Amino acid sequence: MKQHVPVLLLSLAVPLIALLPLPDFWIAQLNYIGLYALVSLGLVLLTGVGGLTSFGQAAFVGIGAYTTAWLTLNLGLSPWITLFIGLALTAVSAVIVGLITLRMSGHYLPLATIAWGLSLYYLMGNLDALGKYDGLLGLKSLSMGDIDIGQGRLFFVLCWALLIAGAVALINLLDSRPGRAIRSIKGGTQMAEAMGISTFRYKVTIFVIAALFAAVAGWLLAHFQRTVNPSAFGLKMGIEYLFMAVVGGVGYVWGAVVGAALVKLLDDYLQVALPALIGTSGSYEVIVFGVALVLVLKYLPDGLWSVVARKFPRSPRDVNWQDAANLPERDKPARGEPVLEVDNIRKQFGGLTAVNDISFTVAAGQIVGLIGPNGAGKSTTFNLITGVLSKTSGRVTFCGADVSHLPSRDIARQGMARTFQHVKMIADMTVLENVAMGAYTRGHSGVLSSMLRTNQAEEQRLMKEAQRQLERIGMGACLHEQAGNLAMGPQRLMEIARALCCDPALLLLDEPAAGLRHKEKQALAQVLRQLQGEGMSILLVEHDMDLVMDVCDQLVVMEFGTLLTRGTPAEVQANPAVRAAYLGTEH
Ligand code: ADP
Ligand code: MG
Repeated sequence: MKQHVPVLLLSLAVPLIALLPLPDFWIAQLNYIGLYALVSLGLVLLTGVGGLTSFGQAAFVGIGAYTTAWLTLNLGLSPWITLFIGLALTAVSAVIVGLITLRMSGHYLPLATIAWGLSLYYLMGNLDALGKYDGLLGLKSLSMGDIDIGQGRLFFVLCWALLIAGAVALINLLDSRPGRAIRSIKGGTQMAEAMGISTFRYKVTIFVIAALFAAVAGWLLAHFQRTVNPSAFGLKMGIEYLFMAVVGGVGYVWGAVVGAALVKLLDDYLQVALPALIGTSGSYEVIVFGVALVLVLKYLPDGLWSVVARKFPRSPRDVNWQDAANLPERDKPARGEPVLEVDNIRKQFGGLTAVNDISFTVAAGQIVGLIGPNGAGKSTTFNLITGVLSKTSGRVTFCGADVSHLPSRDIARQGMARTFQHVKMIADMTVLENVAMGAYTRGHSGVLSSMLRTNQAEEQRLMKEAQRQLERIGMGACLHEQAGNLAMGPQRLMEIARALCCDPALLLLDEPAAGLRHKEKQALAQVLRQLQGEGMSILLVEHDMDLVMDVCDQLVVMEFGTLLTRGTPAEVQANPAVRAAYLGTEH
């Protein structure tokens, strides 16, 4: 895997640098770069991958640093114990802050992290026990037995070993079941929730992971500098950490290292060069950083590492899952038994009744078409059934269980899978990985096992299933293509494969033929007929009447939110009211 080339290079470079007769000054610089990179590594996960912007990471560095400082100085504990106490404290605070702030949307989250960063700064600066703004002095350097590893070259090796381990853990995580869920958060939560993923849980999770990375850096920093004071953990540093991640390339693990190096070196250079240039001293480098940030965002919005990443595109995944076991399948209703019973569901948006007491049933093995002019309420009906929207009234029974009040992820878990009127996918993931997201609820591996790569047996089963579903709909040839590069037709088929991956008892397709060319429509019709032959139960919203009349067993016709009629395609075609509705609005 090309992704691991930087890991190999760094693992060779670190011991080499430690052995070379570099001046101590440069080793110290590298130590700071390693520490900063560790913090911005957390931001790559949180901001770059998860889309959650935090200015408050410096505060978590502070928790790690102050915890070890206070405990080693006052209670005489070993730093190797205080590290874990610091991590525990950080995790608890991150969970609390996360639970409060991560439900906020848009700009409120960054604002909340600013507030949190500020308040912790003033708390550290005003507590007598923490030495107020002078901080705590006289910490011991880190040691192992009699060997001092807290300074110079040995500290460099420790710090960069932790950094490399963190980077590898992140790379592993992002390429896993929970990693795909994390990567889906940024594009909005609807699709991920429809795959059975609790997006809020993952938001809190990555917030905590990023905080833990920062806390480890704080612990290292405290014992490296042998003193802690609030200025290293204030808002200015919080902004600088974010700046490092963004300049380096916030979407890339190695961007964190590049950004940290650039900012640290530039910072030092400017602090000397600027006063000489303008003749007075002051924190003018902050202004230069501001300008640089604007320039980077304008000309290299994906950061410096994106230039490297573009030169070395990811190699396709090794197909090593032929021998993996198949995933277990759920029990499904026998042909003819009711799968879905929709009973008088209603949705009001203010004064508009988008869905007006609609009832119908889908029996196992049936394809039921839900048709009607634009704005009739078909997509809203879909959203009510799948739990994306809450119902004003009415009841939905799925496989005999009342799912009226369940959120969409719980309904998905029970085997109701869907596609979207506007394709929702992760454009920078491969087709195979996108489809594997559909099998999310059929896997169990969590964050830790993914980081440690003990999830591989399950990962192979998920990939095998994704490949099987893609082959089932005739897309076996584009497993490793970037999903964003696909034409509309294959994108829609990919969504169907993703839905099939959840082993559904019922498949809901919202306008699968919209925007397709003639050839692509034929391919789709072929897939639908094949699924029908295999006994799949499908609820289909579609405008293409040829397709609908061709594949559907039953039709439900809506107009202005109300049920116009129900029946077989032949009955519906013969119904004058339907003709009037369509001829009046469509032709
Ligand atoms: P269809 O899928 O049949 O074209 P929709 O279900 O998308 O129709 O929309 C039905 C009606 O509900 C339309 O009049 C639409 O404007 C309205 N509507 C849909 N979603 C919302 C919403 N979130 N808020 C307010 N009105 C909505
Ligand atoms: Mg619609």
